[in-house]
Formats: sequence, C-alpha cells, structure tokens
Amino acid sequence: MESAIYIVATPIGNLGDLSFRALEVLNGVDLIAAEDTRHTRRLLDHFDVSTKMCSLHEHNERERAEELIKAVAEGSSLALVSDAGTPLISDPGHILVSMARDAGVKVVPVPGACAITAALCASGVPCGRFVFEGFLPAKALAKKACLEAYLYESKTVVFYESPHRVLDTLSVMSEVFADRTLALARELTKRFETIYRGSVVEVRDWVEEDTNQQKGEFVLVLAGASEERAQVGDDEKVRVMRRLLKDLPPKAASAIVADLMGGSKKEAYNIALSLRE
Ligand code: SAM
Repeated sequence: MESAIYIVATPIGNLGDLSFRALEVLNGVDLIAAEDTRHTRRLLDHFDVSTKMCSLHEHNERERAEELIKAVAEGSSLALVSDAGTPLISDPGHILVSMARDAGVKVVPVPGACAITAALCASGVPCGRFVFEGFLPAKALAKKACLEAYLYESKTVVFYESPHRVLDTLSVMSEVFADRTLALARELTKRFETIYRGSVVEVRDWVEEDTNQQKGEFVLVLAGASEERAQVGDDEKVRVMRRLLKDLPPKAASAIVADLMGGSKKEAYNIALSLRE
C-alpha cells in the first residue's frame, strides 16, 4: 500500500455499503485511526480485517495528528475512519488532513457513504445546488437565528439532527419556514429507513403524531426559497448594506449582512463594493 493517509468512508447503517476499495485499503494499511476504536472493531471483525488501530477523536486529534503524520512521512500508510459515513463530515479529521497537507504528506480520498448525499438523492427536493449546515445550535435563540439566516437562501439546505432534538427543531423550522418543502430522511440504509416529504408544518405534525418517527438518526433537507423570495432577500440586503456602509467599512458591513441575512461574506462584500462604486 502506497505511503499516504487514506480517508475511508464506512457505511451509515447497511454494512453492504462498504466499498471493495475501502476494504482493500483497510486491510492493506499499517494502521487505522478510528474515532471510536470499539465501534470500528465491530466493522473490522465483520469483514475479518485485523489491521492495528489507534484512536483519533476531537479531544486528541492535534497531538495524535503530529505522531501519525510523522509516521506517514517516514513511509507508513494510515487509514482514517469515523463511526459512520465519510470522515470530516460533522466528524473529526480536519486537523489531521490540514496538517498533512501543510507537511506535504499525501492524502487520498476513498469515497463512499455519506448521509448528506444519501438523503439528498432520495428526498425529491432539488439537489443541484445545496448548502450543508450540519447540526444546528442546541440553544433556542441561536437555533432560530441560524435558521432565519436561510430565509432568503435559494439553494437547498441540509441539516443533521439527533432524535432528542428533532421535534424541537421541526417546531422552530415551522415558525420560520411554514409552507416551504422539507424532506425528513430517517435511519437511511437501515431497517426502519423512512423518507417523508411535505411542507415543514406537515412534516412537524407527522413526526409529532408518531413517536416512532422521533427515533434514530435524521437528515433534514429543506427546499430553497422561491426566486421571488430570494429576490426580496437580495433587495433587503442592498437596503441594509447601504445603511451599514454609512458607518462601517465594507468588510465589517459584509460580515454583519452575511451573519444576519444569510449568504456568504464574499457575496455580501460584492454587494458592498458595487454600492461604493
Ligand atoms: N460522517 C457522517 C456522514 O458522512 O454522514 C456523519 C456523522 S454525524 C456525527 C452523525 C449524523 O449524521 C447523525 O446525527 C445524522 O444526522 C446523520 N446520519 C448518520 N447516519 C445516518 C443515517 N443512517 N440516517 C440518517 N441520518 C444519518
């Protein structure tokens, strides 16, 4: 196995989703760095993989990354896996990959399951252009503010959610988006896989009425704002930006507009520049 760090996607439920190449890499590398070694042990046992493992999680990533990159720079090979799906996607690994790139160590993706793409492709919500938000903040005010920043977003927005927060999140989403289309994708690739699409309010009511639908792992796929609504958002951004630029430099004004009204800082900065011109 060529000396490199292999970023290996593992199944998000159905073990049949481990790719041939992932198996080959897991068998062939010198060491597997796993988010939770006990969890990954079950996967490796299922496929008769006996490669040595070490842990790499959010609490030890920086120091572990240093040791691992040194070993790979000296010729060994390493696979990074998380508990499920693609490492780094709402999972540890960014520090390792970023440090490896800084050190000139080769990083090789071994793609496979990821809850974002699994949910998107079966949701029936447009998925040509999408934004991934990941987990929403737990605190009520921060959660609502984060959602409101997508009011005028025309791209589909993808969220991850856990069973004990899903109903609360759907309730806040109903206040903010009401009749916008939402798909709830639950327990993907597993026995109780469910994909339900409706207006945000319909999905909230459906989940509220059936406690079984509150169990498991969730992806929420929210349709983007209509063209007309997105246009209202753009007009509103221009109005707010015009006012902010009276007192602030473009960079600071753009950061506030992006933060409160959604979209990227770069997009807001372009509005600021066009207004200055
Ligand atoms: N790295 C993973 C990936 O590639 O999707 C995501 C890890 S993140 C810590 C775990 C979250 O992903 C869950 O809380 C849930 O929102 C989503 N997720 C993972 N597996 C899922 C599944 N089988 N069905 C629905 N959502 C899932």
